[in-house]
Amino acid sequence: DNVILEVKNLKKYFHVNGGILKAVDDVSFTIKRGETLGLVGESGCGKSTTGRTVIGLYEATGGSVIFDDIPVHKMNDETRRKFARKAQMIFQDPYASLNPRMTVGDIVGEGIDIHGLYTGKERRERIYNLLELVGLNREHANRFPHEFSGGQRQRIGIARAMAIEPEFIVCDEPISALDVSIQAQIVNLLMNLQEEKGLTYLFIAHDLSMVRHISDRVAVMYLGSIAELTQSGELYTNPLHPYTQALLSAVPIPDPEVERKRERIILEGDVPSPINPPSGCRFRTRCKYAMDICSEVTPSLKEVGSGHFVACHLFDK
Ligand code: SF4
Ligand code: MG
Repeated sequence: DNVILEVKNLKKYFHVNGGILKAVDDVSFTIKRGETLGLVGESGCGKSTTGRTVIGLYEATGGSVIFDDIPVHKMNDETRRKFARKAQMIFQDPYASLNPRMTVGDIVGEGIDIHGLYTGKERRERIYNLLELVGLNREHANRFPHEFSGGQRQRIGIARAMAIEPEFIVCDEPISALDVSIQAQIVNLLMNLQEEKGLTYLFIAHDLSMVRHISDRVAVMYLGSIAELTQSGELYTNPLHPYTQALLSAVPIPDPEVERKRERIILEGDVPSPINPPSGCRFRTRCKYAMDICSEVTPSLKEVGSGHFVACHLFDK
């Protein structure tokens, strides 16, 4: 079939001073080839950890990641090398992820060197092409990261990821640190590259407005698990989970008439600690619909409409 990535019951726990931090706790989803799955939630909800575990930067505590029908933890050296090439990551802070002492050309060429793809003139041409692909030019190859603006640095980060012809890219908040005016340019660049190269994205963001245009489907995370997952259009018009409804009510609507009549849902309280999360539904301490069962039984992610999954007891039959 055309599923490129399958994540099954993924867990990533960290040992911290006060106990065990369950950053990712039983997360499952699939991504189809050429699709963009948005992954949204407040900071600390486990979305970056999910991305990093999926790509192999962290070793999973439990569950599995299946790429191109092969479980990552069962890959032999050769398949693992291929996986490391096919699955790339773009980071939130392009500056922190770019070595300040390396020229842009060498930063972009690093993957080419590691994977031994091209040398000499071919390598140079490839780097020039990559810079042009992301809207920079060949003269930029000899310069250093500090000479560039935030948006240009993110373009360098994208060129670096594209250098080794990936099929799947985890974009970890690639536009969150950028000016609003630049965000759309980077999203458009990513969408054009996807179209041209048939890329698949896991696109991580902390607010729903940022993933709206790029995502085919969106998963909403809260305290280490998925609260809701559905087609992008459906999520914005028919959000079912109380947490999604609250997140969505914070997204401004361009039409002032609609905006004025809208009910804002203010979430009370802070996100509880993932070291000692609430029993049952993790959202219950902030949910105005919480019932007795919510503190006793953890709601599982169930399909309530075609392709629309929600983890909430309000939808128990
Ligand atoms: Fe609210 Fe209960 Fe649904 Fe959790 S399971 S979101 S506490 S109604
Ligand atoms: Mg993050």
